[in-house]
Amino acid sequence: MSFNRPDIIRPPSEWRSYFLPLTSGCSNNTCTFCAYYGSKLQTRDVADVKGEIDALALFTGSRIRLPSVPGVVYAIAQDWDGKRIFLQDGDALVYPFAKLMEVLQYLNEKIPSVERIGTYATPQDILRRSVDELKELRRLKLGILYTGLETGDDELLQKIGKGVTSDEVIEAGNKVKEARISFSVTIILGLGGVERSQKHASETSRVITEMDPDYVGALTLTLVPGTPLYGQRERNEFHPLSPFQSLEELKLIVENSSFSDCFFSSMHASNYLSVRGKLPQDKEIMLKQLAKVLAARDPALLRPEFLRGL
Ligand code: SF4
Repeated sequence: MSFNRPDIIRPPSEWRSYFLPLTSGCSNNTCTFCAYYGSKLQTRDVADVKGEIDALALFTGSRIRLPSVPGVVYAIAQDWDGKRIFLQDGDALVYPFAKLMEVLQYLNEKIPSVERIGTYATPQDILRRSVDELKELRRLKLGILYTGLETGDDELLQKIGKGVTSDEVIEAGNKVKEARISFSVTIILGLGGVERSQKHASETSRVITEMDPDYVGALTLTLVPGTPLYGQRERNEFHPLSPFQSLEELKLIVENSSFSDCFFSSMHASNYLSVRGKLPQDKEIMLKQLAKVLAARDPALLRPEFLRGL
């Protein structure tokens, strides 16, 4: 079966990257809120990946386009500065280890200007790898892993079909840190709905504090048609937060978590308000910004619903 190139779904910080697919879909396709729910994982042939790396190297070096290469490769490569690569798709770390090493070695050899390679990884993908294996990947410039914690509330983790406990996500984070790979963690505001909001906020604060990652990215829940959570809302079994309630949750999380050195942001397009800063030093500034918007309760201060993205 031929490989279907996935759409680009990426962390905000990867906007300058070249997007190189190794897989399509997600190996852990059971999360009830996620657009990847029920997706079929496809892994791409190494030869096919190498062919794209060859085309990219040729284009980067001499702007030569090959007619056999899909136009999307050149569309992405057009403005690429040759420095960052983001491996697609939902969890490219699931790509078989020997093949992943082969691809990264080839990439390093063909495009030595590459400084950092990043990818999404599920906690399960990370736990399958030893610290030594992660160090090998680090040596080949895998510099950042983006992992979804979503919530620190274990009951909610189970409810949303995440397939891991908060302790396992913490363990995965420790391995990544030991391998000296930057670790970025995603949390989702509103994931517990109205009823679990307090618990979601307090448990998430507890777990991200224990993880002490380099980055935390807050997203706001967007209900995706076709997902089980969307169905629950339709049946009035799930009660989503209002935009201001989601900001209250964000404020609680910032207030109650502590880090040694973390860039915390809600810059993702799904959020109603973009707040960011280095923690611990910017904590007061961020809390004041949130308190001000919460006190004003003016919808004009928020990103309008139609401009929110996944
Ligand atoms: S939330 Fe992450 S692990 Fe779960 S289905 Fe989506 S991409 Fe996969």
